[in-house]
Amino acid sequence: MEFYQQTVKNTLGILLTDERKGLNNNQVEANRTKYGANIIPQKKEDSYIKIFLKNFSEPIVIVLLGAALLSFISYYYTHFVEKSMGHGSESLYEAIAILLLIFINAVLGFWQEISARKSLNALKEMNSRYTNVLRDGIWSKIRSQDLVVGDIIKSEVGDFIEADVRWIETSELQVIETHLTGEPDSINKDTEEITTTVDIGDRSNMGYSGSIVANGQGIAIIVGTGEHTELGHIAELIQSVEGKKTPLQNTINKLTKTLMMISLGVVLVSLVFGIIKSGSISIDSMTSTLSTSIALAVASIPDALPAVLSIVLTIGATKMARKNGLIKSLSSVETLGATSYICSDKTGTLTKNEMTVVKYYDNGIEYDVSGLGYSPEGEIKDVNNDVLMNSEFLIGSVLCNDSTIESVNGKYKTFGNPTEIALNVLGQKAGMFKNELLKSREIIRTLPFTSNRKMMSVIVKKQDEYFIYTKGAPEILIEHGKSFLLKNSLDSSLHAKDSFIKVVDYYASKALRTLAVGYRKLSAEEAINANIQDLECNLIISGIAGIIDPPREEVRTSVEILKKSNIKVVMITGDHAKTAQAIATDLGIFSEKNDGVFKGSDIEKLTDDQLFEKVLTTSVYARVSPEHKQRVVKQLQRHGEIVAMTGDGVNDAPALRAADIGIAMGITGSEITKDSADLILLDDKFTTIEKSVEIGRTIFSNIKNFMRHELTTNIAEVLSLFLGLIFFTTQIKEVGVSTPTLTALMILWVNMVSDAIPSFSLGYDVAESNIMEEKPRDPKASILANYTWSRVLIRGIVMGFAVYFAFVWAAQYGMNSNQAQTVAFLTLVFGQLWHVFDARCSKTIYRRNPFGNKKLVLAVMFAGISSILVTVIPFFNTVMGTERLSFIVYTMVVFLPALPTLILSGVKEIFDIKIW
Ligand code: ATP
Repeated sequence: MEFYQQTVKNTLGILLTDERKGLNNNQVEANRTKYGANIIPQKKEDSYIKIFLKNFSEPIVIVLLGAALLSFISYYYTHFVEKSMGHGSESLYEAIAILLLIFINAVLGFWQEISARKSLNALKEMNSRYTNVLRDGIWSKIRSQDLVVGDIIKSEVGDFIEADVRWIETSELQVIETHLTGEPDSINKDTEEITTTVDIGDRSNMGYSGSIVANGQGIAIIVGTGEHTELGHIAELIQSVEGKKTPLQNTINKLTKTLMMISLGVVLVSLVFGIIKSGSISIDSMTSTLSTSIALAVASIPDALPAVLSIVLTIGATKMARKNGLIKSLSSVETLGATSYICSDKTGTLTKNEMTVVKYYDNGIEYDVSGLGYSPEGEIKDVNNDVLMNSEFLIGSVLCNDSTIESVNGKYKTFGNPTEIALNVLGQKAGMFKNELLKSREIIRTLPFTSNRKMMSVIVKKQDEYFIYTKGAPEILIEHGKSFLLKNSLDSSLHAKDSFIKVVDYYASKALRTLAVGYRKLSAEEAINANIQDLECNLIISGIAGIIDPPREEVRTSVEILKKSNIKVVMITGDHAKTAQAIATDLGIFSEKNDGVFKGSDIEKLTDDQLFEKVLTTSVYARVSPEHKQRVVKQLQRHGEIVAMTGDGVNDAPALRAADIGIAMGITGSEITKDSADLILLDDKFTTIEKSVEIGRTIFSNIKNFMRHELTTNIAEVLSLFLGLIFFTTQIKEVGVSTPTLTALMILWVNMVSDAIPSFSLGYDVAESNIMEEKPRDPKASILANYTWSRVLIRGIVMGFAVYFAFVWAAQYGMNSNQAQTVAFLTLVFGQLWHVFDARCSKTIYRRNPFGNKKLVLAVMFAGISSILVTVIPFFNTVMGTERLSFIVYTMVVFLPALPTLILSGVKEIFDIKIW
């Protein structure tokens, strides 16, 4: 017989589980060994070899291979056909160097992919789902992958069911199992055994891995885990952390492709010029010109860009995770940097979510409660120092409550919603325990809390009588109330209602979270069959709780930082307007200058166009429902804002999806909300959002700086060669007209070593001190917007001319071809090494400490020294065509190339020219 055909009792018996205690540790281990872990095997990743070989299929490699082949042909021709011994060896070295370059490129690409894969896997690991489980008699939340067969679990609205289960207790439970049955609607679940054989879709007492709880709640025993679940049988892996290409990556890939086409054009043009200049069409001149042109063209492509980009984005994601911001796709790193509005909820994000009832109003009397936190030690006193025991308010607070508090080794271990824990603690302070109350009562139905109703109820049977106990937002409960419990009598007058409203207003103005409790007697028929609306009405309101939930201290600073960076912070909460205003004022989110607090009921009255007019001047929304959040997001987006929106409840998922960055709470958020989010706050803290925005901005600016530097080098290289081809038309002393400004291998050296290594460390740069003072970036604008293009062009052109002039100067000075090229080479190398410090500044080189990025300083030193060494060491002299220079010339080529950078920055500094 299958589990759905068994009774609850039999199922528990078969799996040896105690319904009230769950499994013990030994049983957990034994069951894990026996039935396996709750993990569905992952799709096999590409092997290392495959990843390595993939790098050889890039178009750029094919072009490089072509260049190497041409160099070989040239070598072969001169060496074997013309039999010119000694000549043509440069072509051989060139071919070998190009092959080496291809290999180094492949190794770099391989390393990049492996490290990105590792980081993404680590992020995936952190993005685990959690499930409420009962073990050794204590409820706690554990990673779903640690569940075992036989575990007792509890699922609530918004939870994913993480294994195959048999329900043993349900309350208004509805589940969506579209992934297995194709049925889009939610299906009612109960605990009755089924005596016939039915399909999965009809097994109403079973829950299946991957389903979502759409309503109510249930307790179940796990009957299948991991690959033994129905999902496991059909599992196509559902990847939660995506390695998809981001918009920026796509743009840059396109840019690289365009540059590659331009480079091919360069090949043809330079080939034509080369032939015209050499005056003859021999195979020798053809092959050497062609191979130099191709090597030049290929070397001038910023081919490291895509690799660096994905590394920098992945590193950014890892950095964020270390600061407790877990992003789900790399594109969010980019969007975060452009965020202009942060809509945050209050409870738990801006406040500590450590709730304690400090005041309450019961039967018309006000009480003060001492003792903070979850320890049930504290006193309750009214003005006459009297304590009221056994009141309907306290009974409702304790019974209509799913939280638990256990004392473990003298420490209090709590489980459940902090608002309910606070009421539970209050009950214990008054000597009222749920277990004790349940000795003479039974909870027969639970109507769970939803942020739309803002209420929760339980239906209780006491002997033959039935009662409903409801708690929830006071305004709503009071609206559903028929009478008020004042001094042991029921009062339906407006005066009685007023006295409750006054208490609520008073508590809220003191920044207390308020909650009302009510009850009424029900008939047996109502208790069992009536629907929620018919039950939660005509209540007797028995009291009001005032709960302190202190603001998080660090939020004030974060709000200030965000204000400076022109990011607006908006509080959007389900709580009372006055409580929201008090906390928002305290945190600097609300000021008298703002429009007043906007309530959900106000939003309801407005059309979209009217709301559009309001959203830019409103900073606090209270008593909102998830639908209101979605409307606010949409209207802000109509203003062109990039909106980040937080949420924790199940109904928040659509608003999170609508936002540019949906943010879910890692600790208190429902699993479905986390699933729809782009960013998960592992610590639920608002400050984490601010930190993530800062990292997002830094990454973007580092990528921009990296591109600035790379493109400047490319322009300088191409231009200096072109100037040589066009203008170097008469022999100058020892340097002939066919001598290019730089040899192909010199260019390869610049691109692979002296330029690549320093600019790579730009990707890891720290944020500029003013990064959080700038306006949010326009996400539609190009990465080279805001005059980055003009700065690249101006610097690249100046540097290109400088290299060419250095070459001509060397020729006129009487140097030979190799020496003149060496002068040009070192001018280019050092010109770029000085420029790299400028490329990392949004303003000028004089505004940023050049030693701020230690990696960069080391990289520059390495690049500088090794570039001089290749002009001294004989082996490199032969391979690269370099030659040793005199000390004075070395001094000149190291320091004079600083002038373009220093002068250009100086002019910008003095005249503040934007395009400069
Ligand atoms: P935020 O939206 O900032 O997280 P919130 O927690 O107040 O704030 P909701 O969760 O939508 O927002 O709750 C709205 C109101 O419902 C609360 O102010 C409170 O009065 C009431 N409430 C919250 N939790 C419960 C609960 N477990 N049972 C009954 N009522 C609740």
